[in-house]
Amino acid sequence: MDTLKNALQAVRTRIAAAACAAGRTPDAVELLAVSKTFGVDAIRAAAAAGQRAFGESYVQEALLKIAALADLSLIWHFIGPLQRNKTRAVAEHFDWVHGVDRAIIAQRLNDARPATRPPLNVCVQVNVSGEASKSGVAPADLPALVQAVAQMPRLRLRGLMAIPAPGANPDRQRSQFRLLRRLRDGLDIPLDTLSMGMSDDLEAAIAEGATLVRVGSAIFGWRQAKT
Ligand SMILES: *Cc1c(COP(=O)(O)O)cnc(C)c1O
Repeated sequence: MDTLKNALQAVRTRIAAAACAAGRTPDAVELLAVSKTFGVDAIRAAAAAGQRAFGESYVQEALLKIAALADLSLIWHFIGPLQRNKTRAVAEHFDWVHGVDRAIIAQRLNDARPATRPPLNVCVQVNVSGEASKSGVAPADLPALVQAVAQMPRLRLRGLMAIPAPGANPDRQRSQFRLLRRLRDGLDIPLDTLSMGMSDDLEAAIAEGATLVRVGSAIFGWRQAKT
């Protein structure tokens, strides 16, 4: 698993370089290791190399890993599309959720968050590409959703998350990251997290203010598409 350790180190170096280039300190950007489709051995290897936060997109798969790795006290982020019937499992087993884009989903997470755990950290997902097919709240509807989530006692609203349109050219991609930051800065409530940037575009995201990058393939390698 030395390859994984080296890949993780290379990603950390990219993050630090991008942060420095943007006049930011490297520790201003947190690395979320996206381990979806990879097994517990790979996650253990990453944890042994110092990685604490892991991102998962498929609930059933994630629950098995969370149980199998309970001895490591890792921090689990749910980053996949969130269906209503999965909200209870996510509220019970995760520390963070990044894909909240409707009040009904937030309400269900709030209601299902166990009293024995701290409030669930939440990022509201915003549709920054303007494509109708994309998930995420429309920018115009963001302030109302943020207000609603901020009032839910079992949720802790941390910030905004976006997935830019795939294949966008670098300028267009960067302008989508910039839009997310501007939306965050324009809200009445101060939010500390901008969850944006993946393996291929983390530099652009960090240049535009990302505080958390979600990186999968650059750490764990090529991933078979889930069918
Ligand atoms: C899979 C996934 C990632 C990681 O993508 P890579 O290109 O492998 O770095 C990041 N964010 C979300 C929401 C994902 O689903």
